[in-house]
Amino acid sequence: VFKVYSEGLYEGDKRVGTVVVYRDITKEFEVDQMKSEFVSTVSHELRTPLASILGFTELLINRQLKPDRQQKYLSTIYNETKRLTALINDFLDVQRMESGKQTYEKKYVELSPIIHKVIGNLQINTNVHHITFTPLTENDYILGDRSKIEQVFTNVISNAIKYSPNGGDIHVKMYEKEGQLTVDVEDHGLGIPEEALTKVFSKFYRIDNSDRRKIGGTGLGLAIVQEIMRSHEGEVNVSSKYGEGSIFTLTFPIVEGKRKETDTEKRNI
Ligand code: ADP
Repeated sequence: VFKVYSEGLYEGDKRVGTVVVYRDITKEFEVDQMKSEFVSTVSHELRTPLASILGFTELLINRQLKPDRQQKYLSTIYNETKRLTALINDFLDVQRMESGKQTYEKKYVELSPIIHKVIGNLQINTNVHHITFTPLTENDYILGDRSKIEQVFTNVISNAIKYSPNGGDIHVKMYEKEGQLTVDVEDHGLGIPEEALTKVFSKFYRIDNSDRRKIGGTGLGLAIVQEIMRSHEGEVNVSSKYGEGSIFTLTFPIVEGKRKETDTEKRNI
């Protein structure tokens, strides 16, 4: 993208030419575009749960409702409030990561219990998906920040659910490969078009295809996953067949031999 400036060149009163200056403003243009994407995503993502909270509280205040109705509305309000909180935490996380202010409190932690816990929490909210976990190694200690690692698995497995709108099996497999502790999260959902595979980890990037236009999100989940994995000397990668499903692969450096959670390492990254 270029911005063009032109200026007449004069000798006395006589115009003898024109100077044209092209300035490459691709970067500014991209930043502007990202800003406006950000504003529209934020306002849409905040407005939807807020509208629902507002609507249901109005009903609860103004109408005499049967207890089961009340209960139903209250649990909707509760869930939408949780959604808002998670959303705001995502924005704050990204902000902290960008300013280099994110801190990680690392200890030796075992991955299997974390994965079990995350799956348990997510399985409650769906009965059309069946999530299984196969640990193929017992050597599953990593040096990590427990809550951040939970967030990594929550984001990746909840995406597997969200982008498999027809339900289906989600398979989590943990194994050792080339000296790395590796976890695959495999789904049989919408999949990712090839040209989008490298972009899904970028901030605010969302695939705008008709198959997923109704699915909400901010485009921050995977950017956060990538940042957390890098801060753990690990990686996240994806392979996918559009229309068939995706496999997100997380790799962590292995810690040889099991250790207790007493060794701590606090770091500012
Ligand atoms: P969000 O889900 O809020 O859009 P993410 O950063 O988590 O943001 O994901 C970015 C994009 O990558 C999503 O918009 C979605 O289109 C695509 N994506 C992520 N996970 C999957 C998956 N398991 N299957 C298909 N598409 C996915």
